[in-house]
Amino acid sequence: DAAVDSARVALRMGARDVGILYRRSLEEMPAHQDQVEEAVFEGVKIELLSTPSRLTKAGARLRMECIRTRLAEVDESGRRQPEPVAGSEFEMDADTVIIAIGQMVDLPNDFGLPVTGKGTIETLADTLETGKAGVFAGGDAVTGPASVIEAIAAGRKVASSIDKYLGGSGDIDAAPAPREKAVALISSLLPLGERANVPTMPVDERLSGLMEVEQGFNEQAAVAQAARCLRCDLPVLGDASKCAGCMTCMLRCSFRFDGAFNLASSKIQVRRLVGRPSEFEITFTDGCDACGICVRYCPYGALTKQGTEKGG
Ligand SMILES: Cc1cc2nc3c(=O)[nH]c(=O)nc-3n(C[C@H](O)[C@H](O)[C@H](O)COP(=O)(O)OP(=O)(O)OC[C@H]3O[C@@H](n4cnc5c(N)ncnc54)[C@H](O)[C@@H]3O)c2cc1C
Ligand code: SF4
Ligand code: SF4
Repeated sequence: DAAVDSARVALRMGARDVGILYRRSLEEMPAHQDQVEEAVFEGVKIELLSTPSRLTKAGARLRMECIRTRLAEVDESGRRQPEPVAGSEFEMDADTVIIAIGQMVDLPNDFGLPVTGKGTIETLADTLETGKAGVFAGGDAVTGPASVIEAIAAGRKVASSIDKYLGGSGDIDAAPAPREKAVALISSLLPLGERANVPTMPVDERLSGLMEVEQGFNEQAAVAQAARCLRCDLPVLGDASKCAGCMTCMLRCSFRFDGAFNLASSKIQVRRLVGRPSEFEITFTDGCDACGICVRYCPYGALTKQGTEKGG
């Protein structure tokens, strides 16, 4: 998202005309789709299948010589490589050009720390201690480009390791956030509500600063969205004594995987017991990921999720 973030921040810093030049098509863009959509919504122009070939000064401005590209066949890397289209050169003038083509660790040599083949700091996985006694490292410098939450987790791990290194117990008091009140388990039998989009700030308000664009759900909406959880962490239990052998579960399950009703591909199997025409056996194959769809659709209450109201 580096290019998209740069463009959106440029708008907030007062740039009036902001564009992104990308040598592939939208399909190959590694940025998150919702971020790209928000950027376009805010006024960022995205020039696809184009790449700069030369940057020069043009008076007080910068001139980018560019060329259109087309995508060649997929290569060994699994991506379609862009190749320049002869005769499609064009120019763009700009006040500022931001080169946002990826990130890498920029580690000063005089740190004297052993590095990995990727140029990141080498650490022991358990303690995050580096090859230099008493020096610890965490975050992007160790993992390469990652996320804030991973950097925070590494920071906590390093703090604990340093405490131990200095003779402490390794227990660090600081909690990342106050514990919130527990929410009761959600019944997997509730009807699925609609997926809601997170409310966002109107464009004319958001461009005047660096405020949070996504406003988050209020408590009521958050609980309603959480109720859509399929609880695939809880196993599905079958109660053969309630089963009527209707096969609804098998049909629903197969539809999820095949997009068509096909009893053979169902991950739940219901079989009539030999010599006992009204008794059934319910089994699950290894392919069952406990999505709970069969539980929702069993009309006889023969399937439950362990830990939900009906499953006890
Ligand atoms: C454009 C962009 C968008 C991102 N968006 C997201 C996102 O939406 N969500 C998310 O979770 N993550 C996002 N990330 C990733 C996230 O920012 C990083 O994973 C996170 O900041 C890593 O934290 P860190 O503490 O390891 O490193 P950094 O946050 O990079 O902190 C390193 C610090 O060290 C300082 N420093 C560097 N060299 C020296 C030196 N020689 N001496 C002293 N200080 C030095 C730097 O100035 C910096 O302050 C994004 C990253 C980028 C680049
Ligand atoms: S829980 Fe999901 S995957 Fe497993 S049998 Fe039921 S519908 Fe199929
Ligand atoms: S939907 Fe319920 S009653 Fe019907 S076969 Fe499956 S487990 Fe048995």
